[in-house]
Amino acid sequence: MSTYHPLSEAQAIEYARQIPNLFQPGSDLTSHEIGDGNLNLVFRISETATGKSIILKQALPYAKVVGESWPLTLDRARIESEALLIEEALNPDLVPHVYAYDADLALTVMEDLSDHVIMRRGLIEHNQYPLFAEHIGRFLANTLFFTSDLGKNQQEKKIQQGRFINPELCKITEDLIFDDPYRDADTNNIEAHIRDAAEQLWADSELHFEVAILRNKFLTSAQALLHGDLHTGSIFIKPDSTKVIDPEFAYYGPMGFDIGAVLANLLLNFAAQEGWSTDSESRTSYRAYLLQTVKDVWTHFETNFRALWDEHGVDRVFQTPGYQNFFMANLLQDTVGFAGAKMVRRIVGLAHVADIDKIEDAAARERAQRLALAIGTSFIRTNRQVKSIDELIAIATQES
Ligand code: ADP
Ligand code: MG
Ligand code: MG
Ligand code: MG
Repeated sequence: MSTYHPLSEAQAIEYARQIPNLFQPGSDLTSHEIGDGNLNLVFRISETATGKSIILKQALPYAKVVGESWPLTLDRARIESEALLIEEALNPDLVPHVYAYDADLALTVMEDLSDHVIMRRGLIEHNQYPLFAEHIGRFLANTLFFTSDLGKNQQEKKIQQGRFINPELCKITEDLIFDDPYRDADTNNIEAHIRDAAEQLWADSELHFEVAILRNKFLTSAQALLHGDLHTGSIFIKPDSTKVIDPEFAYYGPMGFDIGAVLANLLLNFAAQEGWSTDSESRTSYRAYLLQTVKDVWTHFETNFRALWDEHGVDRVFQTPGYQNFFMANLLQDTVGFAGAKMVRRIVGLAHVADIDKIEDAAARERAQRLALAIGTSFIRTNRQVKSIDELIAIATQES
């Protein structure tokens, strides 16, 4: 047992050395901290002789945001490692393997995925991933179904829910996604050239009403174990493989929040094509790819989820004719609403996305920001009327 302290690169090597059955005794190991250091340290340790490598992810007891820091529970490392294990059991090919978790050091030892790229970067570089929609649709269906009252013993679900209360990380989401963007909050991060659009958000009481409904769902609807932060920066990808990482925001929440996060981040990149596509032909074709992916993610999710329900449903009452259709219709609407909220917060809220912020040309960046806001607010406004995924595609097409 050791008391908590943030590891140095040298200490990370010593730590890795004593993990059983991993590296050869006395072998030469190198260590590099490769995380961005805002919330967590991420060390990559590799063995010179064999090339074998692992990742050590260690939580820091604070979050560093715009020069300030606030305390943040180390328990999120437990939540992350337990969520990874549950996700891996349900989707062995879609999550990094966890070798060990150390509660004292708030540290998870996991499979090195350095042969993958972070999907946000892959999309910025205009790569296409033909298997992604199938992979993430299956990940979402398995994880959300088998942790929900539809697919899990309902008493066991309540007990599992107790391990994923996660109040501190949920509070970050509650504030940064469902509150601050809709008022003149200090935490907001708004470029001067879109100040007028932010002011419109703050004055839009129809929008605030819809955000209140979404916020209440996020706070109270314990449908399934969510990843909680499923943006394209939490997805490692290469053409034949998709891996979901970083579930430290995991908690029991509304299913549409995770599905919406995926769709929102595809559509943020869609909006960002204002800056990344040099000619209109490549913009049109990459946008078509992104929209098709949005549609395919939902379709794969829905097909898989319904099949699981038909085959593995644990609840007799939920097999009542018509209920599955009712449930899926509501879930699509939640997905649209949460996707909208996720898009808006990335434009006016504290944390932005590189897809848009890294556009150097200010005019192109502004067009991307306004497009993302137009799509996001339209999703929020219409979420409770949406009846098919094609309506989402139509909104994105129409605004662009
Ligand atoms: P944070 O919670 O601080 O965002 P992440 O889990 O997203 O931490 O990891 C931050 C970065 O560290 C990732 O973007 C990636 O570059 C690297 N990383 C994290 N996990 C792995 C892994 N299993 N294999 C390789 N690199 C990883
Ligand atoms: Mg990070
Ligand atoms: Mg991350
Ligand atoms: Mg994280």
